[in-house]
Parts: sequence; C-alpha cells; structure tokens
Amino acid sequence: MRIVVDHDQCEANGICVGIAPDVFELDDEDVLHLTVAQVPADRLADVETAVAQCPKAALRLE
Ligand code: SF4
Repeated sequence: MRIVVDHDQCEANGICVGIAPDVFELDDEDVLHLTVAQVPADRLADVETAVAQCPKAALRLE
C-alpha cells in the first residue's frame, strides 16, 4: 500500500504526524512529506487511523 496526499486539501494541522510521526513529516513550510514509499505492514494500522482521522480527507491509501 502507498499513501497519496492531496496537497490542495492538506491544512498542515499535524494530526497524521501525531499518529504516525515515523511516516508523516511536516517541513518548515508546513508541507507534508512521507518518509516511506510503501507502508510497512507493521505501520499499516496507524496509517489507516491517520487516513481516517484527517479532518480534510487529504489522505488515502492505494
Ligand atoms: S491530518 Fe490531514 S490535513 Fe492534517 S497534516 Fe495530515 S494530511 Fe494534512
């Protein structure tokens, strides 16, 4: 699985970073970055939580 970020929707509130800081990072200009190309199996549960809790629906898995 990989994460797709809709940067037009992301408001950089950091909720996903709080849930999975090893996967999601905000840079100094509040741009969200992913630290992984593919979601490791042992991180999938937290990533799914982050996707579900993003208030802007800016994350999806494919
Ligand atoms: S939770 Fe959603 S809106 Fe917030 S930083 Fe992550 S992707 Fe952006």
